[in-house]
Amino acid sequence: MGIQIPVRREQMSTMSFSIPRTIFYGEGSLGKLAGLKGKRAAIVTGGSSMKKFGFLDQAQALLAKAGIESIIIDGVEPNPSVETVKKGGETMLAFAPDWIVAIGGGSALDAAKVMWCFYEHPQLSFEDIITPGSMPSLRNKAKFIAIPSTSGTASEITAFSVITDTQKHIKYPIVAADMVPDIAILDPVLPMTMPKHITANTGMDVMAHAVEAVASNAATAFTDPYAVQAIKMVLDSLPTAYAEPKNMEARLAMHEASALAGMAFTNASLGLVHSMAHKIGGEFGVTHGLANAILLPYVIAYNRKFSDKYTYAEKLLGLQDLSKAIQEMNKKMDIPSCFKDCTEVDFNEAKFKEVLARMSQHAFEDPCTLTNPGKPTAADVQMLFEAAYYGKAVN
Ligand code: NAD
Repeated sequence: MGIQIPVRREQMSTMSFSIPRTIFYGEGSLGKLAGLKGKRAAIVTGGSSMKKFGFLDQAQALLAKAGIESIIIDGVEPNPSVETVKKGGETMLAFAPDWIVAIGGGSALDAAKVMWCFYEHPQLSFEDIITPGSMPSLRNKAKFIAIPSTSGTASEITAFSVITDTQKHIKYPIVAADMVPDIAILDPVLPMTMPKHITANTGMDVMAHAVEAVASNAATAFTDPYAVQAIKMVLDSLPTAYAEPKNMEARLAMHEASALAGMAFTNASLGLVHSMAHKIGGEFGVTHGLANAILLPYVIAYNRKFSDKYTYAEKLLGLQDLSKAIQEMNKKMDIPSCFKDCTEVDFNEAKFKEVLARMSQHAFEDPCTLTNPGKPTAADVQMLFEAAYYGKAVN
């Protein structure tokens, strides 16, 4: 007898599985930009890393080879804001590109997706697209290429974009099937320049995507294989990518793992780790992947009561205890075991207590909570935030 796939199912209706039409991957795959057909491209990127390491110049030169004129929309901040995406949409409107080329971390890729939406539909407000499925169709003016420089968010694969309302302190996951990029380019040369802590945080984002996709109520026979393979590749390759940043094999494996996890979670969705990370990120500004890494063991402990999918993944991977493997990996990469001990941002207790109820309610209302195993309440979410803040056992 093989390993049984646990029975789960709210799934008697028609399902879908969407991924980019083409994924180019491997060392030097950035060169595929030279084969593009079009007239004008808007390149969207973040602060400075893509410029500094020469990837932006390379991308522009490759596009020029294809006879494509390009402009650069740069300065997308980590956790991109509504203002940034609105402004980017206006710049695109003035230039009229037929390609959007997003190059950088998840923040740049996410921002470019929503800029694309505002370029195609300038009459829309941010509020018009918050409800999942409310975005009108894209590709009336341009197509979209995503070139990730972190191995983490899988924005190059997904129908998601996370945009922050800086006034309300809320990160909104925008969901629209049309935002799945047309082309993803996974060139492992780009993530090689990531400093260690970014490799660690983004790598644990991949782990969170894969683990949450496996446990999701909407997981299917199409999503499980990608998710389980991604867990395996992160366990095998993240420690090497962290310790040896120039190890091409480990970098490619992590880039692939990120995309595989993306294929799983864009179709199966996620769970409480992400609902909670979105909100604690909005309140404290903690890096998304770092928040996920800290939250994962607590949410797994809670979810095990409702899901046998962790055991399923453990059997397939020959693992004793997935949670323990995650905790050990966090430790090796200097990721703290609770928010109280996290020094990346100021996690002072008074502020935590002040925002706890609001943050828990917002996390409960996050779309990712819908696919978490069981039926977590806002009180459950609050209990999990307290456990993950103080490092307490989950009851
Ligand atoms: P990021 O894009 O915010 O980048 C983090 C930092 O790393 C930045 O300072 C950036 O300049 C730097 N950087 C990026 N690539 C580099 C490289 N190769 N070398 C050196 N420095 C580099 O980080 P991220 O984790 O990729 O993205 C996080 C964002 O993505 C968050 O807003 C998160 O909510 C969102 N997100 C989106 C999805 C999705 O499906 N769209 C999924 C998960 C998370």
